[in-house]
Amino acid sequence: MKITQAKINELLTEPGCEHNSQKSGEKKKVCSQQAQPGAAQGGCAFDGAMIALVPITDAAHLVHGPIACAGNSWGSRGSLSSGPMLYKMGFTTDLSENDVIFGGEKKLYKAILDIHKRYNPAAIFVYSTCVTALIGEDMDAVCQAAAKKINTPIIPINSPGFVGSKNLGNRIGGEALLEYVVGTGEPEYVTPYDINLIGEYNIAGEMWNILPLLKKLGIRVLSKITGDARYEEITYAHRAKLNVMICSKALINMARKMEERYGIPYIEESFFGIEDMNRCLRNIAAKLGDAELQARTEQLIAEENAKLDITLAPYRERLKGRKVVIYTGGVKSWSIISAAQDLGMDVVATSTKKSTEEDKAKIKKLLGKDGVTLEKGNPQEILRVIDDTKAEMLIAGGRNQYTALKARIPFLDINQERHHTYAGYSGMVEMARELDEALHSPVWEQIRKPAPWDLGNEILAESSLDWLDLPEEIFV
Ligand code: SF4
Repeated sequence: MKITQAKINELLTEPGCEHNSQKSGEKKKVCSQQAQPGAAQGGCAFDGAMIALVPITDAAHLVHGPIACAGNSWGSRGSLSSGPMLYKMGFTTDLSENDVIFGGEKKLYKAILDIHKRYNPAAIFVYSTCVTALIGEDMDAVCQAAAKKINTPIIPINSPGFVGSKNLGNRIGGEALLEYVVGTGEPEYVTPYDINLIGEYNIAGEMWNILPLLKKLGIRVLSKITGDARYEEITYAHRAKLNVMICSKALINMARKMEERYGIPYIEESFFGIEDMNRCLRNIAAKLGDAELQARTEQLIAEENAKLDITLAPYRERLKGRKVVIYTGGVKSWSIISAAQDLGMDVVATSTKKSTEEDKAKIKKLLGKDGVTLEKGNPQEILRVIDDTKAEMLIAGGRNQYTALKARIPFLDINQERHHTYAGYSGMVEMARELDEALHSPVWEQIRKPAPWDLGNEILAESSLDWLDLPEEIFV
């Protein structure tokens, strides 16, 4: 798939994205504005495409470019697999100066054949980078020739870092799936209860909290796009009856185009928090349009909620009214508020940096009039908000853990590097346990004590240094 300016414009003005429509229906092209310096901080378009596609576990992911592009993006996501581990291997053509001058197409061709010979993957995704795009490598032609030779799908992903943000890269990854993968296979059988999960990457394995619930209801996840996915299941995603989008902005283009091409409706849901999980199951059942399924869903929700009431009671007692600041993006900017509020916590501020207009409306409703929203955040701003609101905890991505430490408050990692599963009903218990352990750790009492050198000499003299039996003069 050639990535032309027209294709980029199309993805940046995606009609399914809330950024592009105002209440009046007039177009508002926020995404298509010229990227500002620093826009790719936190991930370039190449990184975004990899985020969307690397969770396909039985495929090889080959980066055509200098080794640093592969190194910078490798292992930064906690997507887990229930089987193949090939997706965890880092493959790169490792271009040198010579290749930049004379071209790296032959090297790429050889690398594809070598990967096929050694690992025989279900497919090979080949990612362009800034360097290979700038020197004009014809990746599409190389992939086509190699695919013919080894009779394996070789998919070019033309998403070099300089074309834009991580979010644009996600969409380019989705476009590639639509163009090369979806519709190329057929499932063994279909049922009226087949759905796809789009934008769920199985971080820390949290999709495994959800699949048993759907199975209990008799709903089959036909294709997981792309957490813990196998290449083949994506080939027949076009046979599902419903697309359930989990991270709305990332692959919205894919859901909308599947509706256009295959008539599959889509809904946007969240797996975080009790209320949202209840709503998600209800909405799926309602969309599949079966009265018996809806009755079974209500029964399951009632059972799960009753169990949670008992399990969460001691945590709610300990977390009640504790003030928290949330700093994350996308759908999590409101779904985590809902989860924290389900536990009785007081969310005093949240970020709206990567939120859609719809996300912002949900945040406003959940936070109420006194809630603070951070449109543009940086550590100083977060520290100021923590100070102003007297927040007792920060829930954010891993990079902000030092901001929390500076404020001497506990921190919960909610982003892609997290090691705990917070989705679904069982995820709520895990989240409550983690919040409780972090908030009530005895270390905070120690950390908040003034340092000995900040205390007056008198106090220092009275302190536990007595046993040293030091001469009085040294305290003067
Ligand atoms: S693709 Fe470009 S912006 Fe992204 S890591 Fe490589 S050189 Fe950097």
